[in-house]
Amino acid sequence: MRNLNNKTILVTGGAGFIGSHLCERLLANGNEVLCLDNFFTGSKENVRHLLNNPHFELLRHDITIPLFVEVDQIYNLACPASPLSYQYNAVKTIKCSTIGMINILGLAKRTKARILQASTSEIYGDPKEHPQKEDYWGNVNPIGIRSCYDEGKRVAETLCMDYHRMNGVDIKIIRIFNTYGPHMDSYDGRVVSNFIVQALKNEDLTIYGDGSQTRSFQYIDDLINGMIKMMEVDNFIGPVNLGNPEEVSIKELAEEILSLIPESKSKIVYRKLPSDDPKQRKPDISLAREKLNWEPKIKLKDGLKKTIEYFRQII
Ligand code: NAD
Ligand code: UDP
Repeated sequence: MRNLNNKTILVTGGAGFIGSHLCERLLANGNEVLCLDNFFTGSKENVRHLLNNPHFELLRHDITIPLFVEVDQIYNLACPASPLSYQYNAVKTIKCSTIGMINILGLAKRTKARILQASTSEIYGDPKEHPQKEDYWGNVNPIGIRSCYDEGKRVAETLCMDYHRMNGVDIKIIRIFNTYGPHMDSYDGRVVSNFIVQALKNEDLTIYGDGSQTRSFQYIDDLINGMIKMMEVDNFIGPVNLGNPEEVSIKELAEEILSLIPESKSKIVYRKLPSDDPKQRKPDISLAREKLNWEPKIKLKDGLKKTIEYFRQII
């Protein structure tokens, strides 16, 4: 039987990778879901299985344009997220995190909806503290090719805090670390999808730089659990890190993916490292453990197996 939560929830960027999983879970929990997307990097395919659900509504809209709807909660995910997609139109990316953020915060202010902002580990830039805690202010290049995204997300956090302090808007900020799983875009250039697609197509796996840079990869289901816990908890606005502290080098990741696709004829090749590529990244999740009683459960190998199965089916 459906557990009727009876909330009307807006998910901006709901047809994207994370958004589509979130819409699915919110519906399963008994909510009405309004999924908004301009389909820049997301796709109707990601939510096609939800279209016949009477509790689901899909709205084509761009958050840089004001929006008037009545909702109880807002998850603000709309923003291109991979370096390839956010650099494609850098000015549009920063508009999304500034003008778009102001529009969505204005909506939250008018409707008194609680709003959860999907921020990012990128606000730590190329971190000089390791692992990263929420009170670290980061090391971000303000004029580089990643700045439209990193600085945009930093301004978005500032806007959330100022709407909270000035107008009492009920905000929440999560800082998401690299997340992977089914519904990732095959061609948006992120490392997990790139390596899996390359391995399945017997193309060489392209490591940028020498592969010694590290990331911490969390499986999508763990993130969704953390997002919903954060939305539901009272008296804690964050920011809070949501990520898997299991840190791996990009070379180790490539080797792990090849070992899970033993029939692949792919080899590893090395390409130029893009500028401002962070050398290391690993979340300190003590705050999430304490405040949300949350930690990731899915090991990298298990998450990769599920993700490989998804890509096998769509390729
Ligand atoms: P994604 O590109 O799959 O999803 C983003 C969605 O937002 C897409 O469906 C896109 O079409 C939509 N969108 C973009 N600009 C829009 C606009 N102006 N108006 C309306 N819709 C717009 O990426 P994702 O990985 O699902 O990321 C979702 C959110 O989580 C993003 O805000 C991203 O910054 C954040 N995040 C993701 C990761 C990760 O590892 N995936 C890490 C940190 C933060
Ligand atoms: N990367 C790589 N090969 C690829 C794609 C990415 O070596 O085909 C590297 C990239 O340079 C970075 C890491 O993998 O060091 C993670 O890249 P991604 O774009 O997935 O995430 P982000 O850099 O935003 O954390």
